[in-house]
Amino acid sequence: MIRYAKPGNLDEALTLLGEARWKILAGGTDFYPAMGSKPLADNVLDINGIAEISGIAGDASHVVIGALTTWTDLIRHPLPPAFDALKQAAREVGSVQIQNVASVAGNLCNASPAADGVPALMTLDAEVELRSLGGQRWLRLEHFILGNRRTAMQAGEMVTAIRIPRASTAGSSSFRKLGARRYLVISIAMAAARLVIAKDGRIEAAAVAVGACSAVAQRLDALEQTLVGLRPGRDVEQAVEAADLTRLAPIDDVRGSADYRLIAAREIVLRALQGALGASGRDMAA
Ligand SMILES: Cc1cc2nc3c(=O)[nH]c(=O)nc-3n(C[C@H](O)[C@H](O)[C@H](O)COP(=O)(O)OP(=O)(O)OC[C@H]3O[C@@H](n4cnc5c(N)ncnc54)[C@H](O)[C@@H]3O)c2cc1C
Repeated sequence: MIRYAKPGNLDEALTLLGEARWKILAGGTDFYPAMGSKPLADNVLDINGIAEISGIAGDASHVVIGALTTWTDLIRHPLPPAFDALKQAAREVGSVQIQNVASVAGNLCNASPAADGVPALMTLDAEVELRSLGGQRWLRLEHFILGNRRTAMQAGEMVTAIRIPRASTAGSSSFRKLGARRYLVISIAMAAARLVIAKDGRIEAAAVAVGACSAVAQRLDALEQTLVGLRPGRDVEQAVEAADLTRLAPIDDVRGSADYRLIAAREIVLRALQGALGASGRDMAA
């Protein structure tokens, strides 16, 4: 017999997770579409009653986004400009109705290559908090999402939070998404960029990530290193033009060919960088 449970606190949820196999239900915006017309096959653990894992809080070392935090919660919460890319991504997740119920953590756990939250969270060096009866562990987002619909979550574990190190909340940021239409669309390619600009106007630190162009979104480490020390303007454009993006190895699908995705990725990386520079008060012409 299939069970349904809606625990009122985390301890209760972790106890249940230790007893049996469950499919976790948060906002349900991936959960239900994934079922299609098939009947329920798994026990359902509805985590919507666990108040302690909702909302955004912070301590001296981290900004912590609880697992039940919705995209709308995130958009409305005051956060430093380094989070602008994540907020822009939040506004691109489906429609306002979806954003009102869908959780940031659900986006990561679903592990779609086109998950809009992933690149911006990667540029913030986000870590995923996993809890089970046995304890607690944190994985860098890059180590949590392993492939298309695959995560490092073990049986008995659930995601309880996403945390961002304070050291990675510096600078300004921007997100760009390319879809086949403007609204309510799955990404063909997307990019997030976070830049820290030094007093002399040069780029002091750069974080750039591309999504929907590989099974898992990727940071462009080599480009990030090239950008450090450059002044906004032609040098940045040239660095993007010269960047080797072949590591992305995008797929061909109904939304776009691999070749098209690579061309699009380069363009939207540039636009994300321009957006981050604009938000920092500099622009590419400076
Ligand atoms: C019409 C529509 C449009 C959409 N548009 C977009 C879009 O533009 N961009 C985009 O990125 N996504 C889009 N989505 C997908 C979806 O809305 C997001 O991925 C959303 O963030 C998922 O969150 P959720 O709370 O609804 O997750 P759920 O559907 O509840 O869960 C998703 C998966 O994660 C697991 N899970 C959820 N929370 C936890 C947890 N705390 N611990 C462990 N496992 C967990 C569930 O078991 C399930 O496998 C769209 C969906 C719909 C229906």
